Amino acid sequence: MRVRNKPWAKDYMAEHTERMVVEPEPLRGDWQSRFPSDQPLYVEIGTGKGQFIVEMARRHPDHNFIGIEIQMSVIAAALKLVVASGLTNIQLVHTDGVAVNTIFAPAEVAGIFLNFSDPWPKKRHIKRRLTSPVFLSHYQDILQPKGQLQFKTDNRGLFEYSLTSLSNFPMVFEGVWLDLHAATDGVEDVETEYEQKFSSKGPIYQVIAHFPE
Ligand code: SAM
Repeated sequence: MRVRNKPWAKDYMAEHTERMVVEPEPLRGDWQSRFPSDQPLYVEIGTGKGQFIVEMARRHPDHNFIGIEIQMSVIAAALKLVVASGLTNIQLVHTDGVAVNTIFAPAEVAGIFLNFSDPWPKKRHIKRRLTSPVFLSHYQDILQPKGQLQFKTDNRGLFEYSLTSLSNFPMVFEGVWLDLHAATDGVEDVETEYEQKFSSKGPIYQVIAHFPE
């Protein structure tokens, strides 16, 4: 996601420390202290401008949500949305998602969402893909038993890579959708910014999987 530098971003983030965390490591194992109620914790990595995570928090008041985003100008836009929403079951973290195992304690997380992750098509960048084995091993560290990893994308190449990567890890598939918007099984689909932008150009793919016990 390319965005213009937002000169107001740093100050705005500093003004909203009730919703925004920039030093997440000290909260490892204690994330529930950031929310009014102790509830299952769901994490989105690469949350972009926050449309998905805010709508999820609105629909699921009995869950807590954390959006992680690496770009300051992008997460500042998400923060605006979170503040405007008035929702208290959502927190944002400005950091690199590769470090999730230093941010969350073992089994602290009930589920992980990856939406329209950057494809990193070049071979030498495979390790940066959010479904590469390094990331998967960190997800395994922090997910509760049977905790779900949910990944959706419009990028067929990244989807094929991800199916192979998850299967080889190994992970257990709970569902695979080759055209999520044509699904008739009642699966919930909260649309992201990218999904709304690109779904007219082709199918949306999704996989839900968990690590074996
Ligand atoms: N999820 C949003 C959506 O579906 O509209 C945004 C998709 S955008 C293509 C991918 C986002 O992931 C970008 O905002 C990018 O900065 C973020 N991102 C990429 N790698 C990341 C990482 N390692 N940790 C955190 N965020 C990351």
